[in-house]
Amino acid sequence: MRKPLAKAPPRIQRMILKVQKYDLKVVYKPGKELFIADALSRASLPDTIVGNDFEEDLEAQIHALISNLPISEKKQKQMEKCTSEDEVLQCLKETVLKGWPLNKSEVPLSIREYWDFREEIHVANNLLFKSDRLIVPKKCRLEMLHKIHSSHLGISKCKQRARDVLFWPGMSSQIEDYVSRCSVCLQNKGANQKEPLEPHPTPERPWQRLGTDLFHMRDKTFLLVLTIDSKFVEISQLRETTSKEVINKLKEIFSRHGIPDVLVSDNSPQNSSKLFKEFTTKWEFAHLTSSPGYPQSNGMAERMVQTAKNVLKKAEQSNQDPHLALLELRNTPIDSNLQSPAQILMGRRLKSTLPASKELLKPQNHSDFVRHTLIQKAICRKSILIGRLNP
Ligand SMILES: [Zn+2]
Repeated sequence: MRKPLAKAPPRIQRMILKVQKYDLKVVYKPGKELFIADALSRASLPDTIVGNDFEEDLEAQIHALISNLPISEKKQKQMEKCTSEDEVLQCLKETVLKGWPLNKSEVPLSIREYWDFREEIHVANNLLFKSDRLIVPKKCRLEMLHKIHSSHLGISKCKQRARDVLFWPGMSSQIEDYVSRCSVCLQNKGANQKEPLEPHPTPERPWQRLGTDLFHMRDKTFLLVLTIDSKFVEISQLRETTSKEVINKLKEIFSRHGIPDVLVSDNSPQNSSKLFKEFTTKWEFAHLTSSPGYPQSNGMAERMVQTAKNVLKKAEQSNQDPHLALLELRNTPIDSNLQSPAQILMGRRLKSTLPASKELLKPQNHSDFVRHTLIQKAICRKSILIGRLNP
C-alpha cells in the first residue's frame, strides 16, 4: 500500500493495521470485475474470528495515532471547550460519529464544505482532526492567526506554516487578510523581498555546506550560520567582535550539529585571521571565502541576514518573543514542495505554540524525499534561468 499509515483515513488505517503482518500487493479492480463472494466463504470459521482483545488493541493503536495534542493541559481544555461550543463543529462531530449520508444533498448546509474530505475527518478526545491536522474551532482562529504570523513572514510562508499543522475552511483567505493588515509588516513594507532564483549545489546530507556572516542591530553584533540546503539558521550574539569570539560561537554551534564539510564566509578580519586558519585545520573542514571575482558565493548567508534581521526587528516592534519568531521561521516550509528547515536538518517538526498533533511531531525518514525535491527544485531553477536567457 503506497499511502503511509498516518496519512490514510481511519477506516483504511484499521485495514492496514489488520493486514500489516502479510506481504501483499494491492491491485485496483473496477466493481464490475469483482466476484461476489458466496455465502460459504463469507461465513468464517469460529476459531479464526478475531477476538475482542485484538479489536481493542487496534482501537488503542488508532487512538494513539490520531489523538492528543502535545500542548499544555490548560490549552487542550480550552480547545476542547471551544470545540464543544462551536455549533458547526458539533454538527460535524455528530455526522462523523453517526456516519455520513450517501448524498451530499443530505448533509446539513453548515458542514457541506467538509464533504469532499469527509473520509479524512475523525474525532479524538472531543477534538476534530482532518488527517493529522487539528480543525480549529471558530473562537480560537484569531489566536491561531496571531501565532501563525508571529514570525511576521509573508502571506505564502504563513499559509504554508498553517497548512502544515492546522485546518479550518477559509483559513488561507483569512491568513491573507490578517497578514495584509498587520501594522508591523505595513511599517516595514518592502522588507519581505522575494529571493532571486538561482541554482546552488545540492548537498547529499544535512549540515554539509554552511554559510556564515556577521550582522549588527542596535549596538549589538550577531553571528549567523545557515545550512545551504535547508536555510536552517543559528544566531548567536557576540560579546566582542574578535576572531576568537567568532570561533568560540562556531565551536558551540558545531558541537550541537556536527562539523560541516565546507564553511563559506566573506573576507572579514575575523574569518581571515591566523587563529581562524588554525581552527579550520584542527576541526578539519574547508573554509571558502567570497573572492572579489565571486562576491555572490556567500550571497545566501547575506540574504538570510536580511530575513533574520527583519524577524528580530519586527518581533521587537510588536513586543513578541524573538526566539519564538525564530522557532516559527525554522518550522515554516521553504515552499510547497520543500519541508521546513527543521525537517530537512533534523527530520522532524519542532514543537512550538501552534498546536500540532503527536503524529506530526514524530521523527520522519526524510532524506531521500528531501534530496529528491531539492534536485527537482534545482532542475526547475535551471529551466527558469534558461528561460530567462532565451525568452
Ligand atoms: Zn506582520
